[in-house]
Amino acid sequence: MGGRAGGRRAWWENGMTELVRLTDVTKVYQGGITGALNGVSLSIEQGEFTAVMGPSGSGKSTLLNLIAGLDRPTSGDVAVGGTDLGALGEAGLARFRRDHVGFVFQFFHLLPNLTALENVLIPAQLKGRESADARGRKLLERLGIAEVADRYPARLSGGQQQRVAIARALINNPTLLLADEPTGALDTHSGEQVMDLLAQLHRDGQTILLVTHDAKLATRQASRVVSVMDGKIVDDARLETKERSTSEVVRVRGEETSR
Ligand code: ADP
Ligand code: MG
Repeated sequence: MGGRAGGRRAWWENGMTELVRLTDVTKVYQGGITGALNGVSLSIEQGEFTAVMGPSGSGKSTLLNLIAGLDRPTSGDVAVGGTDLGALGEAGLARFRRDHVGFVFQFFHLLPNLTALENVLIPAQLKGRESADARGRKLLERLGIAEVADRYPARLSGGQQQRVAIARALINNPTLLLADEPTGALDTHSGEQVMDLLAQLHRDGQTILLVTHDAKLATRQASRVVSVMDGKIVDDARLETKERSTSEVVRVRGEETSR
């Protein structure tokens, strides 16, 4: 995470596969009586597609924000790529976010007075031989929305806006893609398209941590489901095979239709 004396070898060259480690993390917001997170420990491997599920107010967004370096825990440690985020100052945290984290929000958060492509390029770093513009267009093409590049957000569907937001999150090749209810504001069809897209990114090697309410989408696409309740992890299931996840989906469907 830049500029550490003597640290020529990057962490990912050391054969390390753990990407995120939370150790006994507690978060109590100012004025909060109980903790939003209460002693959470969690390890996420590089390349995993993890879904975080739980009722409203259970601490899911808090968990994501701490991993993104957007907020700091009250106690406990958060490390990403072997770097202890607690050891970074504000500028260091900002650099960490820029270089390593892509964040996707429920309500897209696109700037209305910029085109889709200009939105994608907001965080773009100048690096490599290819211009940011060319990288942005290529990314929009990869996400299946090349044709919207020069349109303004108001002229895009919700699903298209979210794909633009995903492109913006990916423009700097983040180590970690975090998504907080990315399908929460979309109709079923667009939500499925966005989830299919995340699954494709995961197959291409992207590490993804996704918060969702939708058990069906989570179990169909993610390789791991972490359940949170009252600021604690109450279940952590790796969906080892496609068969397992299919049976989960069927079970969920059955529950939904039976009464
Ligand atoms: P979730 O994303 O699962 O709905 P959150 O992480 O947003 O849950 O919130 C967990 C708990 O922390 C809730 O009780 C919520 O009211 C509280 N909380 C979240 N953000 C803040 C904040 N900025 N200030 C005070 N309390 C907060
Ligand atoms: Mg939330």
